[in-house]
Amino acid sequence: MSEEKKFNLTTAQAYETAGTKYILTEEDKANSKFGKLVFEFPQERNEVVAEGDPEDFVVKPQAYFRGASQIPGSEFNQSYQIFVKPFFLDRVQHRHVKDEFLVFLGASFPNVFDFDAKIEFTLGKGDEAETYIIDKPTIIRIPAGVYHCPLNFKEVNKPVLFLATLFTPMFGGVYDLPDGKTMEMYYNGPVPCKYNPDKKCDTCGKCLQETWEK
Ligand SMILES: [Zn+2]
Repeated sequence: MSEEKKFNLTTAQAYETAGTKYILTEEDKANSKFGKLVFEFPQERNEVVAEGDPEDFVVKPQAYFRGASQIPGSEFNQSYQIFVKPFFLDRVQHRHVKDEFLVFLGASFPNVFDFDAKIEFTLGKGDEAETYIIDKPTIIRIPAGVYHCPLNFKEVNKPVLFLATLFTPMFGGVYDLPDGKTMEMYYNGPVPCKYNPDKKCDTCGKCLQETWEK
């Protein structure tokens, strides 16, 4: 057996748990070295996607990790939504500059395999498009540049935990316009601007340049 394999993790941990203890206050975070890496989820309410859509398809409040605007330097963002009713979430085909992963799990906790829903999701565009019916706990990788959607939660008989993870500092996608041009669109939720809390984030991207180090 090599030296490394004999290393005793239990003993090692005992030496590593020393140090100052912090409660998650803004003041503590400002005075600490690593405080910017610890972030308390704010409670968010969904903003209705389209006129006339029902608001109660998803449980309120929701948690989202909004990426680099919340933990500086983050190269990913993630949603944690629990769907309780059918909903046509994403109608418009698009792609991303980095990989995206979609996770569908049962939300009748604690058993995430207790799943009773039917969700349709399309990967690819035009002739190569493929539509998948998700009726079991599933994870889907969408490589950078690959067209995808629509995403339609057609039947939701039991709550579904939906996580969308995108490896960019802020959520956003690239959309094809009818005139052949493309448009990048960003969305950062109803969070306040980092520099002016009276203002809603307008996805200007200024805070994405910050680092977590002091
Ligand atoms: Zn996407």
